[in-house]
Amino acid sequence: MSAGTILVSGNQRLARTLNRIYEQKQIRDGKLTWETPDILSWSAWQQKAWDESLIHCDNEGQALLSNHQALLVWQGTIERSVEANAMLQLYQVARRAQEAWLLMHQWQLSLAEINLSFSSEDNRAFLRWASTYRKYCKQHHWLDTARMPDELSRYYQSGIYSPPSHILLLGFDELTPQQQSLFDVMKKAGCEFDQIDECSPARQMRRCRYQDGDRELAEAAKWCLVQYTEAPESRIAVIVSDLEQQRDKVQRIFDEVLQPATLINEGDGGAYNISIGRPLSEWPLVHAFFMLLDFAQDHLELNKVVSLITSPYLQGPLEELEQRYQLDARLRRQGDTRVSISSLQYFAARVDEDGEPYPYTCPLLAEQLQDWQSQREKIRKRLRPGEWAEYFSELVGTMGWPGSDTLGAYDHQCMHSWQGLLSEFAGLESVQALFSFQQAKQQLKRMASAVVFQPRSPESSIQVMGLLEAAGLQFDALWIAGLHDEVWPASPRPNPFLPHKEQRLRGMPRSSAARELQSAQRISERLLQSADLIVVSTAKRDGDSELRPSPLFIHIPEEENSAAVVSDSPLYTERVHQSGELEQLLDNVGPKAEQSRARRGSAVFKLQAECPFRAFAELRLGARALTEAEPGLDAAERGSLVHEMLELFWNKVQTQETLLNYNKAELDELILQVAEQVINANAKSRPLTYTERFRGIEQARLKRYLLQWLDEEKKRKPFSVQDTEKKYQITVAGLSVEVKIDRIDKLEDGTLAIIDYKTGKTTPESWVGERPDDPQLPLYSIQFGDELSAVAFAQVRPGDMGFKGIARDNEQIPGVQAFQKLKASTPLEDWPSVLSYWQHNLQRLAEDYLAGKADVDPKKGHDTCRYCDLTSLCRVNESNNLLPDEQDPGY
Ligand code: SF4
Repeated sequence: MSAGTILVSGNQRLARTLNRIYEQKQIRDGKLTWETPDILSWSAWQQKAWDESLIHCDNEGQALLSNHQALLVWQGTIERSVEANAMLQLYQVARRAQEAWLLMHQWQLSLAEINLSFSSEDNRAFLRWASTYRKYCKQHHWLDTARMPDELSRYYQSGIYSPPSHILLLGFDELTPQQQSLFDVMKKAGCEFDQIDECSPARQMRRCRYQDGDRELAEAAKWCLVQYTEAPESRIAVIVSDLEQQRDKVQRIFDEVLQPATLINEGDGGAYNISIGRPLSEWPLVHAFFMLLDFAQDHLELNKVVSLITSPYLQGPLEELEQRYQLDARLRRQGDTRVSISSLQYFAARVDEDGEPYPYTCPLLAEQLQDWQSQREKIRKRLRPGEWAEYFSELVGTMGWPGSDTLGAYDHQCMHSWQGLLSEFAGLESVQALFSFQQAKQQLKRMASAVVFQPRSPESSIQVMGLLEAAGLQFDALWIAGLHDEVWPASPRPNPFLPHKEQRLRGMPRSSAARELQSAQRISERLLQSADLIVVSTAKRDGDSELRPSPLFIHIPEEENSAAVVSDSPLYTERVHQSGELEQLLDNVGPKAEQSRARRGSAVFKLQAECPFRAFAELRLGARALTEAEPGLDAAERGSLVHEMLELFWNKVQTQETLLNYNKAELDELILQVAEQVINANAKSRPLTYTERFRGIEQARLKRYLLQWLDEEKKRKPFSVQDTEKKYQITVAGLSVEVKIDRIDKLEDGTLAIIDYKTGKTTPESWVGERPDDPQLPLYSIQFGDELSAVAFAQVRPGDMGFKGIARDNEQIPGVQAFQKLKASTPLEDWPSVLSYWQHNLQRLAEDYLAGKADVDPKKGHDTCRYCDLTSLCRVNESNNLLPDEQDPGY
């Protein structure tokens, strides 16, 4: 390029590529330093020309608006209009209006012309907004990028400011009338223009079709590998029509073929370069920033809190990661779907009565949250954008954002881009005086979503790019994927705010099918001349829809055997599967239990009976699924409220005689008191769930339950409640567990009855068998021996209230039957034989547990597994697949 020449490219990527090629040439020529060439994208050149013009011309104090600033002015204009009341998505409308404003300038359509030809309410509304917007910009001496080429034309025309001597244009599929006018003016002022057109017809073209999109991309990636292996210096490209939507899929498939080591976190990548970026808001660093801002408003959804407190972009997770995951589990057990700052701070700082931390105590986090709380004062104010930008940075800094020095190379680039955006946000001050916290956060989020960030990646011979980015580039080998007949040519999508007739007449983009066909023909022609070797591919199906090749490529002969275009070599994962040799290991016995105590009370017997592996995994390995928090209370929590209320009630009332002595009003009063007490106690830890209204509903429910239940208690023979929720240590075959018995009643004859509250359906049948479904009450019975005469469930279930159990004889409690009714496999001759039958079964379970018996053996097959979260650990489904058909247990 000679001195004084500026190369203007149709897009940013092309400018980057050309700069890189220029650099490489200088290095090849042995130069150590060189002058930076003037290779600029269209928008960068405009900005440069504008900046330079300020030195020479009187721009009448005009300030250039960035696109974000202009959009904010559009938002304000529309917000103040009469149409705003009926609008749900004002921001989206403003974006479309801004787009229409740009189009009308690019295609030189004036407001007066729109006024003469408007055909819809949308056109009319736009006309009003655009007039107000224009007036507003004029009042404030603002110039936006849509009008900048016209303004530059004016300067060049005036002769005060001279254009460059020579401009080379590259990668413009078409020039807009506005660009054409500007270039004409520049030519008259002495600027020479040349359009570079390096295209030459391809030597070889092929067209292929594959079963589906995945296969198509896999073949493209394999083809790249073949091309690269044959000629490592060659420029290879894959164009994917909808790369933006398919980015993740493309990356997964290309990684698998071109750099499989990255799949197992090895290797640095860099085998290919993917040209599409992501919105800045989606990058983890920025995402963490916004989560913090969301949290500053006091609440955050549980799942977000967890990813926030373990985010590498905060300080602290490295030091207390284990505790923070424990805190996650603790918060989930708490059950609230949203977490407040104070509640998070409470748990993070919590210690037991002896001042010892819990496994989930996170002192560092608690300290950060303390500072965080004190910094939140400002969020109720209205501040200028610059003040918000400063405050946001201070606020997130309290939590240690952007993390310690572990930021990767991409993070540093992302941070740089983010800081640029934050300055732009601060620059909104010139168009918007004050924002509330919520408005400022939302505005910043929108700006971050609109900015695409693409980190610079190492050089590579293989490029994956979108359709428009390939404009003006030349390759040695090119694969064009995904241009089937539904997307190429694209369907028309005229802007709703400009009269359709005018859009069609002027040939504006997306204005008509004919315009789209013309544009697609031009681009296709250019693509087919941009490499020596070209493959055009499409998938045959997308889900249920059948796809056909685009008519614009149908003239290229289709390969009969598309697979042969590349190679039959399987993908990396297929190779791993194919090379697999199966080895069988018997792993149904774990090490013997070193401790004779088991956690979680009677659960050890229930789990061992249900499935030995489950008992081993849950109680010895501590493997349990994280609780899923749900809005409101779940069945277990509601049951627990009923338990607590019954405990409190009987602690006050003590005997059936006292119960019978209460009149209705007294009993109602007492029940309400008890219900309120229970609700208050639970509300402390769940303030977000226990709203005023929720408390009222829950209190009424508990009162209804208790009144119905007490009718059952009144039907019994006289009794007194000896103990409630009393703890016992019970040992069976050397295995010790601590249990808490809901209630022990003293009956009329002086014997005892064990009572266990249940809010679900129950049956004493669950106590029989070598693997009883519910061995809890049989276990309790061991503690009492001869004193005991009845064991019963108190089924506190609306519509099905009553006692269910067995007793030494028939008469003890209504609904509790004599032991002879128990259907056990061994004859149960008397009450003591019932107790020893239970003891015997429990002994076997205890021995198995202590010996490490851990067979994957669910008692009722699939029915048992349905309520267990360990399928991925025990791999019961996989082991069933390996069984021969005749041994298939059918679950
Ligand atoms: S999923 Fe079934 S087989 Fe696996 S541990 Fe749970 S109960 Fe046992």
